[in-house]
Amino acid sequence: MDRLYLDHNATSPLRPECRDAMLDAMSAPRNASSVHAEGRAAKQLVEKARKSIAGAISCPPTSIVFNSGGTEADHTAILGFARGGPKVRRLFLSATEHPAVPAAAEKSGLPVETVPVLKDGTLDLAWLEKRLGTYDPQADGPFLLCTMLANNETGVIHPVKEAAQIARKAGGYTMVDAVQALFKIEIDFSTLGADLLALSAHKAGGPVGIGALVVTPGLGFEPLLGGGGQEENRRAGTHNVPAIAGFGRLAEVASVSDYQALAGIRDRIEAGLPQGVTVHGQSAPRLPNTTCLTAPGFKSETQVMTMDLAGIAVSAGSACSSGKVKRSSVLGAMGVPEEEAATSLRISLGWDTPAHAAERVLTTWTTEFERISSRAA
Ligand code: PLP
Repeated sequence: MDRLYLDHNATSPLRPECRDAMLDAMSAPRNASSVHAEGRAAKQLVEKARKSIAGAISCPPTSIVFNSGGTEADHTAILGFARGGPKVRRLFLSATEHPAVPAAAEKSGLPVETVPVLKDGTLDLAWLEKRLGTYDPQADGPFLLCTMLANNETGVIHPVKEAAQIARKAGGYTMVDAVQALFKIEIDFSTLGADLLALSAHKAGGPVGIGALVVTPGLGFEPLLGGGGQEENRRAGTHNVPAIAGFGRLAEVASVSDYQALAGIRDRIEAGLPQGVTVHGQSAPRLPNTTCLTAPGFKSETQVMTMDLAGIAVSAGSACSSGKVKRSSVLGAMGVPEEEAATSLRISLGWDTPAHAAERVLTTWTTEFERISSRAA
């Protein structure tokens, strides 16, 4: 039986173009800090990748600080900026952030306020405007607003531009976790309004363990790691040249319009679901590749296992390191009752998803759902 992998928001299979770029980069010793010919060749690969990624998101190449991925970028944005930037005194976190963000916020020791989301999963701009309307940057100090661009579980896209404008007006800074959005929708750093942007390569077919923090020119932050002077003293540690080369190649080959085309498959899945099944965030702007549905009485674990036995890899909300299914705080923040959240399923498509995926998902899933529903009736 052919496997059908529909868990791209957990990680996407490596694109062959990225694998080739990585293999090529692995074929010689590659320390981009060495002055000899091999080192200079490695540096060239790093700088080429930096340019390609910067071109894809419209930022100056020097704004890109390579690191190990989204988790590190989130931590550097929050901890590094809190310590070495304009000494922020408070953090505002959207209620649906990836766990890396609240974890970093907790480590910072700064007071944290949660920005609620609306029922459709988008950031509550009215709440933000009201709260920040009374914020006094002179007395209260600068703050950092942390909001993701697109949610990993529902695919819901936050109104980041508007949120960043509200924050700026109140004397604050904005960091945006764009890990799930990168290459799936257009990102223009020059107009987004974000001061810091967290990226990762592996959600769109690039290698795991490589990402970047994009930093507005002139903005100070304290590096998390000390040691070598790599990345202009902004991130110590020998460059992961093959992974950087793979990330750079991804920026050259990934196409937002290819991702847009996946919305057709996602929409066919959603349109074919039986009555009584709801799709979270369906009325909000969403990533074209993600659907998060809830099926009364059909537990998330059972759905994931059923689909797995039928050869289809999907997940219950976000993948978590223990491999266990946890209640989704994202759905909780959207006001979804716990028993409903316990029956949610995330299907996330990607660059290798075949056109027939919708039909196969629907046949497998609805057969099992109807069997379970008729047993319960
Ligand atoms: N931020 C978001 C929104 C994510 O979905 C993830 C991964 O699931 C991360 C951050 C962490 O990224 P990485 O796996 O590159 O550390």
